[in-house]
Amino acid sequence: MSPDPQHRPFSPATTAVAAGRPPREQGAPVNSPVVLSSTYVSTGTPSADEMLYTRYNTETWLPLEEAVGALEGAAQPALAFSSGMAAIDAVLRLATPGSAIVAPRHAYLATLTAAREQAEREGSVVREVDIADTDAVIAALAPDGEPAASVLWIESPTNPMLEVADVPALAAAAHAAGALCVVDNTFATPLGQRPLAQGADVVVHSVTKFLAGHSDLVMGAAVTDDADLRARLHARRTTGGAIPGPWEAWLALRGLRTLALRVERSQASALELARRLAEHPLVAAVAHPGLPSHPQHERAAELMDGFGSILTLRPAGGAAAAEAVTRAVELWVPATSLGGVESSLERRRRLPAEAATVPEDLLRLSVGIEDVEDLWADLDRALHAAAGHRDS
Ligand SMILES: *Cc1c(COP(=O)(O)O)cnc(C)c1O
Repeated sequence: MSPDPQHRPFSPATTAVAAGRPPREQGAPVNSPVVLSSTYVSTGTPSADEMLYTRYNTETWLPLEEAVGALEGAAQPALAFSSGMAAIDAVLRLATPGSAIVAPRHAYLATLTAAREQAEREGSVVREVDIADTDAVIAALAPDGEPAASVLWIESPTNPMLEVADVPALAAAAHAAGALCVVDNTFATPLGQRPLAQGADVVVHSVTKFLAGHSDLVMGAAVTDDADLRARLHARRTTGGAIPGPWEAWLALRGLRTLALRVERSQASALELARRLAEHPLVAAVAHPGLPSHPQHERAAELMDGFGSILTLRPAGGAAAAEAVTRAVELWVPATSLGGVESSLERRRRLPAEAATVPEDLLRLSVGIEDVEDLWADLDRALHAAAGHRDS
């Protein structure tokens, strides 16, 4: 559903609720049905938008794709993929063989792995940068004697270091260098940041996280204003076969309906917890873009709407204390992933592939929608329980 041109455009919070509904006809359902069919009745030469076979297209994805596209302010619907990584893999393939992919050194781990593997196959290179250092990123786009970038990959805030990129400046620089600008908007959500309006060519999401929001499915999406890019990504999805299941698409849209309420609550709680943790005697360091101590706090305040629901914390006592916190929490869930209604935390360096520049004792906290006082009490208790543990 699109807003009447006579009226002001809907705010994103309204779009999350109103977009992707069936037409308003007498007796029509309010929610789109789940269609479980791998194929469609068809004779002769099919028309371009005809449903033909579910790997190509199927009705159950379309309302979600319309809603995610509308939330990102895109001129076209999003494309749903079977996972965030499936969307990312399809978008990375827009890079030209023999070129460079410039990417944050603290990008999502599997994104860097996919980029490195593709670069190796195609005689390209991956240049890893500090995405918050705008001059360094621009210098990495087309350095003398090195392959020029065909894709600038941005994640902002980054996972897990929460570096915030100057998306408008970097998108403009990428275009000047002849590169596409892609933004992984998983952490900020379209409520917190609209990269297409800031000049990005493609936005990708792990729908698994905040968009679906309930830790009950894995899905991804890619969004672009450009019809040609969308057609290439659609062709890649069809050929690669990385399509979502119909139930997942339906559940993701159901989760998306409450995005604004969830994000408002969880980011307010994240900021409150970050402020309190910054004063906590058993905490050595806290990072959250909403804290004035964050190196890109002002940039985040200018470019983002809210500061997101993720924060990081380094307990006094090092990695041993951080591990002990993950075992002592009773309400926070010790688990990987993020963006669910339930708060979770993880010591990222427990994963052998995590970047060596991520501190051993860093805990990534994903704040959910529980009562903030309960979250605080559990964390405070776990920090005290962990206080005896120290790196030897
Ligand atoms: C989780 C995540 C991904 C990968 O998404 P999946 O749905 O797990 O495939 C990509 N980028 C970011 C920032 C993520 O947090």
